[in-house]
This record gives sequence, C-alpha cells and structure tokens, in this order.
Amino acid sequence: AKTIGIIGGGQLGRMLAMAAARLNFRTIILEPQADCPAAQAANRQIVAAYDDPAALAELAKSCDVVTYEFENVPVSAAEALARDVPVYPPPKALEVAQDRLVEKRFINECSIPTARFHAVDSQSELDTALKDFGGQGVLKTRRLGYDGKGQKVFRSAADSAEGVYAGLGGVPLILESFVAFEREISVIAARAANGTVVAFDPAENVHRNGILHTSTVPASISEATAAAAHRAAEAILTSLGYVGVIGIEFFVLADGNLIANEMAPRVHNSGHWTEAACVVSQFEQHIRAVGGLPLGNANRHSECVMQNLIGDDILSLPEWLKRRDTFVHLYGKTESRPGRKMGHVTVLTGKA
Ligand code: ATP
Ligand code: MG
Ligand code: MG
Repeated sequence: AKTIGIIGGGQLGRMLAMAAARLNFRTIILEPQADCPAAQAANRQIVAAYDDPAALAELAKSCDVVTYEFENVPVSAAEALARDVPVYPPPKALEVAQDRLVEKRFINECSIPTARFHAVDSQSELDTALKDFGGQGVLKTRRLGYDGKGQKVFRSAADSAEGVYAGLGGVPLILESFVAFEREISVIAARAANGTVVAFDPAENVHRNGILHTSTVPASISEATAAAAHRAAEAILTSLGYVGVIGIEFFVLADGNLIANEMAPRVHNSGHWTEAACVVSQFEQHIRAVGGLPLGNANRHSECVMQNLIGDDILSLPEWLKRRDTFVHLYGKTESRPGRKMGHVTVLTGKA
C-alpha cells in the first residue's frame, strides 16, 4: 500500500488518517506531542519537531507523498521534504497562507477583492494607517493568529491606539479596513494533480468568542454569490498549482458581493459537515487528491448544521448521542479546557 505522511497530529490529522485508512493508505504522523489525537488513527507516529532534519529524512524515506494538517509547518521543512518526496499542497501555499500581508496581496493578484490593508511595523505606522481608515479597522498579527487571537478591533476614532503596537508583541502587523459584512461563508474546494477542481457548497459560519461555533449548509446566499465563491476558489487553486483541499473564508456584503478574508491550505473546520451530508467528505477528498485517486463527488444529500463542541460543550455529549439526526465526531482528547475543540456534531436538518 502507498504511505501518506501527515505533518501535524491534531484532530484534522486524525480525521485525514481515518479517511486514508478507508482507502487502503498507510499513514505516518510527524508530531512532537506523543499522545496526540492523530496518533490513535495513524499507523505510525514520528515523535519529533516539525523541522527536525532526521525526522524529515525518515518521513521522506518512508512515504510516497507528504501532506500537512496545519498551515504553520515551517516552509523550509516543506521545501526540504519536497526535494525527496512530493509535498501536497505545494510549499508555496504555506508561504502565502502563513503571512496575512502576503496572503492578501496574492488574493488580490488572483483578481479577488479583500479588505483594504496597510502593513504596520511600528506604532507610528499604526497611527497613520488608522487615520487613513477613519479610525476604524481590524489589526492582526501577520503570522500565527487563529481563533481571533492576536487581533484588535477599532470600532471608531474614539478607540485609543496608544501602546497597541507593543501590546500585540511588537511583531509585524496588518491593519485591515473594517468590513461591514452581512454574513460569513467559506468554501472548501479540492484540486487534483491533473487540474480538476471540485468544490463543496459554501457553508455559512457563525463565530463565538472568536472561535467557529456553527457552519450551516446551505448558506443564505444567492446562486450567483455561491458561484462567485466557487470561481474565486478555482482561481486561487489554479494559480498555486495546488493539489489537495483548501478552505477559503469570505465576507458577504449586503449586495451579495464577496470579500475574501483568509485561506487555509488544508482541510478546514467549516468543512466538517461534509462527512455527514456528502458522499465524500473533505477528508477523503484531500486523501484522494494527494494520493493520486480521482476526486469524489462533492454533492450534498442533506441540509445540515455543524456545531463545534468546545470546552465544557462536551458535557452535553449524552444528549447529542440520543439524537437520531446527528453525526457525532470526537477527537480523543481526555482533558477539556476552555476554548479547546473536543469534537463536533452535525445535525441533518433536511434532504438537499
Ligand atoms: P480562524 O480561526 O478562522 O483562522 P483568525 O484568527 O485567522 O481565525 P480571521 O478569520 O482573520 O482570524 O478573523 C476572525 C473573525 O474576525 C472573522 O471571522 C470575522 O468575524 C472578524 N473579522 C476579521 N477581519 C475582519 C475585517 N476586516 N472586518 C470585519 N470583521 C473582521
Ligand atoms: Mg485564520
Ligand atoms: Mg478565519
């Protein structure tokens, strides 16, 4: 059997390994944390840092292809691997997605609109950039932010920016113009090595405390907006020569126009619903793409709502398990902490 290497051992790696096993692939996880969610599902784990040269050499030697489950894989590690074994998605996708400034420029080069933005590398650049946006905007660290961490929202010119540059760690930042969106959607799409692109229906996403709470499908958007989201995804995938699944987040304006927010070069939390409401899930689609199998059908047989089980949400597990309309997926984490993703449920709400 072919062996797929997966860098990262979280729940996304776990779900990729499960999908891979069903298609007769072996999996090897590279993850420094020994007792990780993916370890229970993979055939083997290499316990080492993501950029450990010996571990990368071992992965390259033991795998037919290497993929990853998080976007902060060191680009140098992905490039080093790519000299010895195919790495999908291509390392270029990591480079773009790791830095919000590079990402926005790239998305604009694909003729897709984003919020306006300024690079901010000092307090005085922050003051100037805020002035340009009338005192409003969303300030973010360029790198390593997730679940809304490393961000500060300026709602009006009355919000003081004093000390904010240092407060966010004195690292490179980006100030984005504030987008008064009507709703948020995401598209999960896949591209095969032969250039075929397949996309799932957009999901409508609601966040709570900066963390994804629910993804609802279908989203309350027009067919034209859905088609525009699919076209944008295809343009991004094609431009990157991408192989695998990508998740792209958009803001939907009142007129139905789209503003791209960010992209994740991997399977995405807002695509978890696909395992319950589609014949082929995002996880299987990714394994098919990187494993050189034909892409599957992305049609939906059901309408649904995916809800994350975060922290103490897991206490409601017995109730979820009683329901006949609900797909339950747990991540094998024994200890619940505030903000920690413990699992998710997908409620099937009707036929598609
Ligand atoms: P994720 O966990 O999805 O990776 P993240 O930490 O990378 O999140 P973003 O997705 O960039 O952060 O922003 C988090 C949320 O903040 C968005 O889903 C949206 O609700 C809001 N937001 C971000 N940027 C803007 C903006 N420019 N204008 C208005 N709201 C925004
Ligand atoms: Mg993000
Ligand atoms: Mg986001």
